[in-house]
Amino acid sequence: MDCLFCKILAGEIPSSKVYENEWVYAFRDINPQAPVHVLVIPKEHIPCADGVTAENSAVVARIFEAIPEIAKQEGLTNGYRVITNCGEDGCQSVKHLHFHLLGGKKLSEQMA
Ligand code: 5GP
Ligand code: ZN
Repeated sequence: MDCLFCKILAGEIPSSKVYENEWVYAFRDINPQAPVHVLVIPKEHIPCADGVTAENSAVVARIFEAIPEIAKQEGLTNGYRVITNCGEDGCQSVKHLHFHLLGGKKLSEQMA
C-alpha cells in the first residue's frame, strides 16, 4: 500500500520514535508547529477519523491511553492539544489516521 505512515511503521522510511506499544506508534513531526509536535498513529491502517468503526475503534482508545504517557514523557505538564485532520476540508495530507500532539508553549486560541 502506498501509505507514508505504513512505510514509517515498516521501517522503510526513518522516523524519530517517541513511543511504541502493540497497537500504537508515535514519532516526531518532520515539520514541527510547536516545541513538542508528535504524531500518534495506529499500527493498523485506517484512512482517517471517518474510517473509524465499531470493529476498529478499540485502537483509538489505545491511542488516547498512550497520549497522557507521551505527554508526561515530553514534559507537557501545563497542558497540550490533540488534533486530527480528516479529508479535503480538514486539510489531511497523509491518509493514515493520526493525532497531532502539540505543546510546549501556550498555543493559539484559534483552531481553524
Ligand atoms: P496532516 O496534514 O495529514 O494532518 O498531517 C501530516 C503530518 O505529517 C504533517 O504535520 C507533516 O509535517 C508530517 N509529515 C509528512 N511527512 C512526514 C515524514 O516523512 N516524517 C514525519 N516524521 N512527518 C511527516
Ligand atoms: Zn497507512
